[in-house]
Amino acid sequence: MMLQTRDMRHIWHPCTQMKDHETIPLLEVTSASGCYLHLSDGRKIIDAVSSWWCKSLGHQHPRIKQAVQEQLEKFEHVIFAGTTNEVIVRISELLAQLMPPLDKVLYAGDGSCAVEMALKLSLHAQHLRGEHQRTKFISLQNAYHGETAGAMSVSDLGIYRAHYQSILFDVVNIPVPYVNDVCDPLWDDCSLYWGKVESILNAAAEKTAAIIVEPIMQGAAGMRMYSKDFLKQLRQWTEKNKIYLIADEIMTGMCRTGKMLACEHAEIIPDFLCLSKGLTSGWLPLSVTLTRQEIYDLCYDDYAAGKSFLHSHTYSGNVLAASAAVAVINIMRDDDIANRANILGEKMRTMMNDIANETGLLRDVRGMGAIAAADVISNRERPGIAVYEAAIKRGALLRPLGDTLYWLPPLIMSDVELSLLTEITRDALITLI
Ligand code: PMP
Repeated sequence: MMLQTRDMRHIWHPCTQMKDHETIPLLEVTSASGCYLHLSDGRKIIDAVSSWWCKSLGHQHPRIKQAVQEQLEKFEHVIFAGTTNEVIVRISELLAQLMPPLDKVLYAGDGSCAVEMALKLSLHAQHLRGEHQRTKFISLQNAYHGETAGAMSVSDLGIYRAHYQSILFDVVNIPVPYVNDVCDPLWDDCSLYWGKVESILNAAAEKTAAIIVEPIMQGAAGMRMYSKDFLKQLRQWTEKNKIYLIADEIMTGMCRTGKMLACEHAEIIPDFLCLSKGLTSGWLPLSVTLTRQEIYDLCYDDYAAGKSFLHSHTYSGNVLAASAAVAVINIMRDDDIANRANILGEKMRTMMNDIANETGLLRDVRGMGAIAAADVISNRERPGIAVYEAAIKRGALLRPLGDTLYWLPPLIMSDVELSLLTEITRDALITLI
């Protein structure tokens, strides 16, 4: 029986209307390397979305492979309560250096779980500070933070949450000053905008435990970038009002925006920082929530005091994933990957602008670091899906977010590969006419 048929008999794919696959064939992947997926029909296609934004160093990176293989020879996973090992301590030391003083690390497997840990721990800490009325959260317009109930509650994208409203908690959503690039005056100065946001914030301040943001770039919203000054103002406001700031860097972190962490663009340090995706370069599921000593100390007492943060996941601190993450951080430093992301990204946005000018089918080209995005102009129903299908036929995996077309390739993409991706994207777009 054909692999497609066997798959469709049993498998419910993530974030997919399965009926679409009556007409769109599944891609049968046999291997992957660098920026490419190799398919069973002998073709290879460019992974222009880094397999849902995680393959930051591409597929089959030899140094990561070697690190995982070496660990595989020793042990693969052990209970992480009551045990320690060289690899998990090493990755924790490296993570603690990313944004001092955030030097306490909690481990989970998926990005959503890292968000849940940050939400729970911020509530827990406010409670232990005696701020019992601080039970609410604030998030940004168009935010996306994951699929578990807490993460969905602080998200603002109706398509992902509408059916589950009854199990979600209420949050205050604040408007966001979007920009297309750092030349927009709003990038450096959002003072005219800030006033209206501040009055919404002030009204909610007393009851708020934390604000959660995707710093600088909102991914699932359609790669929407906003003012760094806004993030700075938000940080000052949270400090003044004793409200925690949670930075969800699950998409933006690990060099994607041209710095190790997107918070660095606004020169802010949050109270909680969530990382996943690029942390293992998509080798194995791993996520972390970083926080600082003061929050750790709030929970540190005799067990009987009832302050312990008793959160757990079976795969917390998985050592194979940790071994991949150690290799990733070392490679990112040795090979100056943040700089490479900037150089690649400049070229990507030039190329995407060229496509926009040549075809007239894209507007609002935007991005930073190794992200380029634009909105497709078309009267066709679901133009994003049409572009997806046309690009696959021509040799690239693009997965538009609604009508937003974007490139978020491995940070190691070569000029030749980018030129090919540009050609394929242009040809795929032209099929809309
Ligand atoms: N936060 C952000 C900003 C994300 O982009 C994502 C995933 N796209 C998540 C959280 C959830 O991560 P995961 O899918 O690993 O649960």
